[in-house]
Amino acid sequence: MKNNKINILGFHFLNTNFNDFLNNIKYRINKKENTFVVTANPEIITYALDHPKYSNKIKQADYLVPDGVGILKGAKILGANMPERITGYDVLLELLSWGNKNNKSAYFLGAKPEVIKDLKNILIDKYPNLKIKGLQDGYFKDDEKVAKDIIKQKPDMIFVALGFPKQEDFIFKYKNKLNSLWIGLGGSFDVLSGHTDRAPKFWIKHNIEWLYRLIKQPSRFKRMLSLPKFIYLVKKQNKKSTHE
Ligand code: UDP
Repeated sequence: MKNNKINILGFHFLNTNFNDFLNNIKYRINKKENTFVVTANPEIITYALDHPKYSNKIKQADYLVPDGVGILKGAKILGANMPERITGYDVLLELLSWGNKNNKSAYFLGAKPEVIKDLKNILIDKYPNLKIKGLQDGYFKDDEKVAKDIIKQKPDMIFVALGFPKQEDFIFKYKNKLNSLWIGLGGSFDVLSGHTDRAPKFWIKHNIEWLYRLIKQPSRFKRMLSLPKFIYLVKKQNKKSTHE
């Protein structure tokens, strides 16, 4: 893999395409390498800028990939051309079908109890050869207990869908106890189980998936203000670097 990174506001994003990234992840899973992936959007980055502890954790990820179109926009402002988004949801789908073909195992942590229940049926139906090592909803009290079970089960892949910052906090705390893939996936289980629909292809293709989500869930409006803030900060970074 061309190990290209681009520095956006101090965060080193992987600058490659989806397939290249996935090939590398699969290679690492086969080798049982410890891997921590953060799929970030402008919201995560602006949150991290205000929360140094969280920032420090995501800076230690093996891969920080652009989940949101805002990150691609930010790269462009800085004169770099990121080829495409690498969304947590697409990574999940690809790893599930690869895992199914190659008899890999996975642990699913996150989302509401009814979501994880429906997810189980979908997994059994669509990915019969994938070994499910555990399914745990995201509303637990004792994280030590949950982590202990994951470590005992030794899954190849640990999908953590607790939303940020919870998912990265959890992964960071326990990842060194097991050499597997640990990846934070936000609301992906809600989408895969059919509890939330993802934007139709047209919206995704035209980079307006965020607008679709806003129309569907107007309560997200406040969260989306992080995009203009992010763009403003990137423009400032760009000015600074051209003046240096
Ligand atoms: N969630 C969870 N435990 C919590 C809080 C949230 O499992 O304590 C789940 C929630 O049910 C949802 C996901 O985390 O499935 C967060 O989804 P959202 O779309 O808000 O995340 P984003 O993709 O924006 O990070």
